[in-house]
Amino acid sequence: MLLDDYLSRRGVRDDCEISLVMPFGTPVPPSPDTSAALLTAFAERGIEFVPGRRVSSLDPGRNVAVLDDGAELPYDLFLGVPKHRAPDVVLESGMATDGYIAVDSRTLETRFADVYAVGDVATVGVPKAGVFSEGAARVVAVSLIARVQGGEQPPAYDGRGACYVEFGAGRVGRVDVDFLSGPKPTGTFQEPSRVLVAEKQHFGASRSARWFNH
Ligand SMILES: Cc1cc2nc3c(=O)[nH]c(=O)nc-3n(C[C@H](O)[C@H](O)[C@H](O)COP(=O)(O)OP(=O)(O)OC[C@H]3O[C@@H](n4cnc5c(N)ncnc54)[C@H](O)[C@@H]3O)c2cc1C
Repeated sequence: MLLDDYLSRRGVRDDCEISLVMPFGTPVPPSPDTSAALLTAFAERGIEFVPGRRVSSLDPGRNVAVLDDGAELPYDLFLGVPKHRAPDVVLESGMATDGYIAVDSRTLETRFADVYAVGDVATVGVPKAGVFSEGAARVVAVSLIARVQGGEQPPAYDGRGACYVEFGAGRVGRVDVDFLSGPKPTGTFQEPSRVLVAEKQHFGASRSARWFNH
């Protein structure tokens, strides 16, 4: 939608086609409301949504993306998220099973005593997103401090996180997802608003200040 916005501002949107290919059946499976809002927004902007498909290869000679069912999508600009994998140092550490480090999703403990894994390298049952890495790291930090200082252990990691959704034209919505506390993942959607624009700005700025001191 940011691309739609950009191309519209450049005055060339009508000369372009935008297709979004993803392996999920809906844009945000745990939140039907968010998915519905996104599908409506895609339709309004003439963005083609191709669900349930992966890009299996690119043919740069012909400028064609080949999908996993053999269908071909021509492109001038291809923007892709590469297949995710843990870094070699993790794979070679002996801690990984099937490419990732298995943990107790409530405590982030690995099967090795006093070794925890958080973030994209760990198999927790949540998507691989920074917001979940941060939440899991917080549980581990509180747990370690409690062990050192003799305090109470924190509640189990709940797999909750929020993602801001850019609708273009400066409009920002939000989806809150909960992957672990119930029997199945759930999500709630907040419509785009000015409050959320300011909230997202603060979300980024506060982390930048905390992590990088600027
Ligand atoms: C295109 C894209 C968009 C995304 N958008 C979002 C989003 O909007 N919201 C969100 O929450 N998440 C998003 N994510 C996911 C998010 O970036 C990751 O989930 C998050 O960065 C994981 O944090 P991490 O600390 O586990 O791993 P990383 O951030 O990958 O950090 C691992 C670090 O280890 C370093 N490293 C690797 N090997 C070695 C070695 N041998 N020695 C030393 N260092 C090494 C790497 O260079 C890297 O800096 C997105 C990811 C992608 C790819």
